[in-house]
Amino acid sequence: MTYDDGTEAVRGVSLDVGDGEFFGFLGPNGAGKTTTIKTLVTLLHPTEGSVRINGYDTKADPQAVRESIGYMAQETSIDFELTPRENLRVACRMYGVPTEEREDRIEELLDLVDLRDVADKRAETFSGGMQKRLDTATVLVHRPPVVFLDEPTTGLDPEARLRVWNYFEEINDRGTTVFLTTQYLEEANELCDRLAILQDGQITHTGTPDELKSAIGTETVTLTLQDASEENQRRVIDTVRRLGALDAVAIERTADGVAIEADNARSATSDLFTELAAANATITDFDVQSPTLDDVFLTLAGEDDVGATGAAGDTVRAQEVRR
Ligand code: ADP
Repeated sequence: MTYDDGTEAVRGVSLDVGDGEFFGFLGPNGAGKTTTIKTLVTLLHPTEGSVRINGYDTKADPQAVRESIGYMAQETSIDFELTPRENLRVACRMYGVPTEEREDRIEELLDLVDLRDVADKRAETFSGGMQKRLDTATVLVHRPPVVFLDEPTTGLDPEARLRVWNYFEEINDRGTTVFLTTQYLEEANELCDRLAILQDGQITHTGTPDELKSAIGTETVTLTLQDASEENQRRVIDTVRRLGALDAVAIERTADGVAIEADNARSATSDLFTELAAANATITDFDVQSPTLDDVFLTLAGEDDVGATGAAGDTVRAQEVRR
């Protein structure tokens, strides 16, 4: 997708999102998330390629696409002068919800986003979290099978964010497909069945949060030794090095033991303990840490830096993923 001023904001993005999936688009500021989502919801036309939503082509049949989706933009669409009930009535009219169904639908949504108690108060007095919840409700009045949420929790405090996450999960549990963009790794990890990482307008990785973590990061086993003398630490390190079952990337002495970084640290721990027991090294405590999505992101950002200098050649191309 190229803007009129020549900015190529999104390049070669190709993805399939399945029915009922909670799909995340994760990337830093300026990565192209909003451009992508606006293309998906028919507000922008792709310069090349095509998009199908609910079976409709966004270029050939934009109206059918719009009627079958909910879209929550970064900027709120609610009218602060109006109450939640009034905002929902406006949304019902806008989305053409049959008159006889409107009141029931509104009550159901007020319950869903927990705004019944304030349903007749003007929205201008609401906290950021309450406004987001109302915004979420307004894009659901026509019961769309797919909703698009563009950075829905930016600017919310942690508690409000948690609450909003609950509503998104509930919407998804009801069978709605959710496509969400976020800058927050924790959010993607918590909510998404699958996610794509977008950087500089290209998808660099796609997978479940667990797949991305295990594909990219390494695991770390930290051992606390009863005898943490340098001599004993060196003996343990030798034992670890000899252990064929463990693909150690790095082994270090720590204040009270040894830390081992490996691709398969978790699955190799029982072999490791057997071997250390045979070597008479007594372990008083141990901890295994899996990589976090932060590690994944840092690793990717690092790869990207290398790519930018040309040393690593081409960066990873967007990939097509089918369920
Ligand atoms: P994100 O949502 O991930 O923060 P955006 O899709 O907003 O990223 O922006 C992607 C790139 O496109 C950025 O380099 C941004 O400056 C550029 N961009 C966004 N909107 C426009 C526009 N209307 N005209 C020109 N360039 C734009």
